[in-house]
Amino acid sequence: MRSDPKTDRNPTRSVKVGSVTIGSGNPVVVQSMCATKTTNVEATVAQVSQLAKAGAGIVRIAADSERDCEALAEIRRRCPNVNLSVDLQENYRLAADVAPLVDKIRYNPGHLYHYQRERPWRDKVRFLADVAGEHDCAMRVGVNCGSVDPDQRDKHAADPLEAMLESALEHCELLDRLGFVRYCVSLKDSDPARVVEVNRRFAARRPDVPLHLGVTEAGMPPEGILKTRSALEPLLAEGIGDTIRVSLTVPAAQKHEEITAGRQILADVAGGGDRSQAVRFTHPTKLNIISCPSCSRVENEAFVELAMRVREATRYAAEHPITIAVMGCRVNGPGETDHADLGLWCGPNSVNLKRGTTSLGAFSFDEVIDRLKAELDELIAHRG
Ligand code: SF4
Repeated sequence: MRSDPKTDRNPTRSVKVGSVTIGSGNPVVVQSMCATKTTNVEATVAQVSQLAKAGAGIVRIAADSERDCEALAEIRRRCPNVNLSVDLQENYRLAADVAPLVDKIRYNPGHLYHYQRERPWRDKVRFLADVAGEHDCAMRVGVNCGSVDPDQRDKHAADPLEAMLESALEHCELLDRLGFVRYCVSLKDSDPARVVEVNRRFAARRPDVPLHLGVTEAGMPPEGILKTRSALEPLLAEGIGDTIRVSLTVPAAQKHEEITAGRQILADVAGGGDRSQAVRFTHPTKLNIISCPSCSRVENEAFVELAMRVREATRYAAEHPITIAVMGCRVNGPGETDHADLGLWCGPNSVNLKRGTTSLGAFSFDEVIDRLKAELDELIAHRG
């Protein structure tokens, strides 16, 4: 789905992704990501179709293994007209297998350190740019608050947003130097105010690079939509942003709600609606539950239900300024729960519980809610 919130948008480059073009004044593209196991071809094809039918201009799918790549080949065969993006994590070399099948490759600069540690990240980016160029793919440099490049994180310990910004900028500089300019950038955080700030800073430094906007781990609707609105509306109204994703923790059958919500945000900004109605989540003064939208990497299908149970079980603490993070996997769970007061991340058969950065152990899906409440009560008593 493409809608045009503002005609005088930032003068970004045009980046062609299959049949859509993002940037350069083109209508803003609404996109989403499959939450199914990529190897479950039936379920993934159904979700790709569901999202495309709802108006997704691009649909992203995770690929972490050779088996995922094989499944992706079949998904592409059965969804020939959908603009597909692949989400890479640690194994950047899989790009060579998936690039012929998709229209766009997303990589996370922070994850380029994990696989083949001895190989400099610049070499890995060169490899990705070569593969993308060879197979007519666009790329996204996807910077995420929970997995920032460790060098930049250490260098800018006092200003985490600057670490995200510098990481994005150095990747842009390298890609430009390599002659690969068909890319966009995303800078995502779970705090909407930080999303606004870091994207404004980036747009001021690189107004030519198209931006993919989103609030990571926005959580369950309606709060997840309101959080996303509070970040995206001011940015879009300023002409910043070329493609958007609303990340929601919802059951698979409701995944299209991400597209509906994205379209509504664009329509409201285009209509110059009363944005003062949007709830501000800039400095949460109440209980704040953040949860990931889940994807192929989710360790247990009970994750969405777990997030919902956490929300129900903690309603009594609604007036307390405490953040609880609920994450679906070991890839991003440990890092992205670090900044929350209490964090949960799923393993295949258990849920890992944390208080700040301290691990409290693994609990069964049934036990963990009571233990979470005990920790929450203690935190409330401690803070008075
Ligand atoms: S935390 Fe894990 S399961 Fe959740 S969206 Fe991120 S990668 Fe996917």
